[in-house]
Amino acid sequence: MAYDYDTGNIFAKILRGEIPNDTVLETEHSLAFNDIGPQAPVHVLVIPKGPYVNWDHFITGASAEEIADYARAIHAVVGKLGLEPGEGGQGYRLIMNAGEAGVQEVPHLHAHILSGRPLGKLVA
Ligand code: 5GP
Repeated sequence: MAYDYDTGNIFAKILRGEIPNDTVLETEHSLAFNDIGPQAPVHVLVIPKGPYVNWDHFITGASAEEIADYARAIHAVVGKLGLEPGEGGQGYRLIMNAGEAGVQEVPHLHAHILSGRPLGKLVA
């Protein structure tokens, strides 16, 4: 499948430094920052620096190095915020929305890390 990446999307602007962000963690290929409209006391977005629309685009188009970096960046944010379950952390929810059914608003891949309160059972 071919994906059209919109270079005008808000996260592309963040990556180009055109608008500010509240950075939590940065790696060679990934950036994590606080969501501007947090849905929970902890609401961090983790994005790859490459131009990928969604998870499907990323996993089929990114290099093994980018994929490993992204996976490790998500884990590093969890560790940095002390959320890792079983380590005294309270746990978290990891969400990626994609497409219309997923109601993805920003067309640059992002993982939501949510925590800081009981999040309830995940329902549609
Ligand atoms: P989606 O619905 O695409 O999965 O989630 C997009 C997320 O991006 C939303 O949670 C929204 O609050 C967040 N967001 C939108 N614009 C900005 C922005 O300019 N800065 C930051 N930090 N987050 C944003």
